[in-house]
Amino acid sequence: MNVILRGVRVIDPLAGVDRAPQDVWIEAGRIRALDDRIEAGGVPVIDFTRAGGEPVVLCPGFIDLHVHLRDPGDSGAETTATGARAAAAGGFTHIVAMANTDPPHDSPELLRDAIERSQNAAVRVMHVAAMTHGLDGAALVDVEACIGAGAVALSDDGRNAAPGALLSEALARAGELGRPVLVHPEDEAAISRFNPFGGVTRCSDRPPETEVAAVKAAVKALASTAGGRLHLQHLSAAGSLEPLRLARQRGLTITAEVTPHHLARWAAMSPPEPASLRKVNPPLRSANDRAAMLQALLDGTIDAIATDHAPHRSDEKTNNYDSSAPGMIGLETALAACITLGDLAGRRLPVLVERLTAGPHRVLGEASGVKEPRVRVGEVADIVVFDPDAGWTVSDDTLFSRSRNTPWLGTELRGRVLLTVAHGRVVHSLDARIPVADREPAGV
Ligand SMILES: [Zn+2]
Repeated sequence: MNVILRGVRVIDPLAGVDRAPQDVWIEAGRIRALDDRIEAGGVPVIDFTRAGGEPVVLCPGFIDLHVHLRDPGDSGAETTATGARAAAAGGFTHIVAMANTDPPHDSPELLRDAIERSQNAAVRVMHVAAMTHGLDGAALVDVEACIGAGAVALSDDGRNAAPGALLSEALARAGELGRPVLVHPEDEAAISRFNPFGGVTRCSDRPPETEVAAVKAAVKALASTAGGRLHLQHLSAAGSLEPLRLARQRGLTITAEVTPHHLARWAAMSPPEPASLRKVNPPLRSANDRAAMLQALLDGTIDAIATDHAPHRSDEKTNNYDSSAPGMIGLETALAACITLGDLAGRRLPVLVERLTAGPHRVLGEASGVKEPRVRVGEVADIVVFDPDAGWTVSDDTLFSRSRNTPWLGTELRGRVLLTVAHGRVVHSLDARIPVADREPAGV
């Protein structure tokens, strides 16, 4: 790859850079030069210059803290390879895979296998270790050994069965090694009371109080340890924000994420067919909750946007809402959903980029070894180029995920990823002049 990308808006949140028009020269997988104008001198140029409207954006590759790859356990829904390819199409260069696979990633051996399977993926796939064996909340995994095997964090995501004392111990031991514990904050005991006959993971009735109670319990566990790093996953309820803000004011190390689907305005859209495509844990909530999430994202109370990409086979999303599996795929629609339905376009675009790059990097922390998301001369390129104005229709043809469980299938969204370069390799491109690389490393 040797190309000059002309006339882009470079947004590099960590450097405080937001400049347009800029030329960016990428050669042999590295950013060779970055300037107002680069003389081509025979190097091929792709000109993104716009006469009017929003310029095309070039920024660090997105980091997704929350992805389900179903590997091992359900290759009919997704594999590491298809999930990573979907991530590339969505502009992500780094993704964090959850541990609720079958079997769950709750031992150093299983983690090493998963990391091995991720080596040739299109983007960098990191793994969390389960916090408890089998995610059942009874006994902690060997925290130090799992982190030693390469886990970037601990998480029982999908479940929240561990009592506070166990969470405290996990926070302390992971925190000692600079790793966060990612908590899926839904109070399972309360959910069971609302749904005496349903399984906790699949039942539909999960009022906001079940989330707020779990947030408070997790904060309490954090407060009882020293050095813990707590990260709250997929916040959805307005009431969760106060305990989060109070914990941060007390000096606790606490971060949080929100999903594109919890940021989206759903009221304006007709329900998908089947309606179970909108079933997700935690559920889509009121306009008031949604507005509170957006405000919290804008003011920095929420650090990151994470997709909770949850692939399911079509036979798991049926007309029977109650028995259908919760969750939706999200890697490929994250950017467009945030722009089109999440009110994050226009002057808010830099915030959107920050919450997809520097924000999640901050959550993972330095100990994760993930390099800073930057657009910097001399560095191996981990970048995405996207057109915030381009409309596209989510369809079978555009999706790389093995699953199709998105409520936006057939919907026209605005904001399209044009090019993703991960660790110096072109892993997604809509431009025939920049072909997607094969598996060979790009000379870096
Ligand atoms: Zn979850």
